[in-house]
Amino acid sequence: MRLIFLGPPGCGKGTQAKLLSEQRHLEHIATGDILRDAKRRGTPAGNRARSYIEAGKLVPDDLVNDLIAERFSGEDRPQRFIMDGYPRTLNQAEAFERVLRQHGLNLTRVVLFKVDEEELVRRVAGRLSCPKTSCKATYHIISRPPQRPGICDLCGTPLVQREDDKEETIRERLAVYHRQTAELIDYYRKQGLLREVFGEGEIPKVYERLLAVLDEEAG
Ligand SMILES: [Zn+2]
Repeated sequence: MRLIFLGPPGCGKGTQAKLLSEQRHLEHIATGDILRDAKRRGTPAGNRARSYIEAGKLVPDDLVNDLIAERFSGEDRPQRFIMDGYPRTLNQAEAFERVLRQHGLNLTRVVLFKVDEEELVRRVAGRLSCPKTSCKATYHIISRPPQRPGICDLCGTPLVQREDDKEETIRERLAVYHRQTAELIDYYRKQGLLREVFGEGEIPKVYERLLAVLDEEAG
């Protein structure tokens, strides 16, 4: 099974990817992990990415494509996988298709997790983080509240809302997501690969829906 997971920030696709990859023995390929791994191994693309990361800049599209191509170029290339966070744009989708074709791999499905925008804002804007570097515990006002309001259970430090989790920031990121992925969704829909999963509700419920979508027409 070779899958791409798509969905807005906060939709829970990372959690679902982790569950499915464990149960079905798929490699869970998150862009952040590829980046860290390439940087650690000092690969050519990894070294180029390092300068962006160290300057606090976003790694450009083409470089992300190179990182992915590099990950698939070795003999240990992923054969059964879930892509989580890549491709993000039409340019990346086309580059990824070339990489897969080169290695004789084809996609099984592209899964789009759908969550109502207001629900996403509620999820993300409710996050609280422990600012202490050695702790970094995370909480959620509704789904995972600390025992004492606003205080870290583990180290007693007052919790903060990260800049990324502020309502304004999340709405901006959602707007970018919609702009970028509209084309991507069309692209995969035309190829008949796209399936939608309703991403609201409890994690096991969403997982059940995911399995239903993947196991239909299996084989
Ligand atoms: Zn803490």
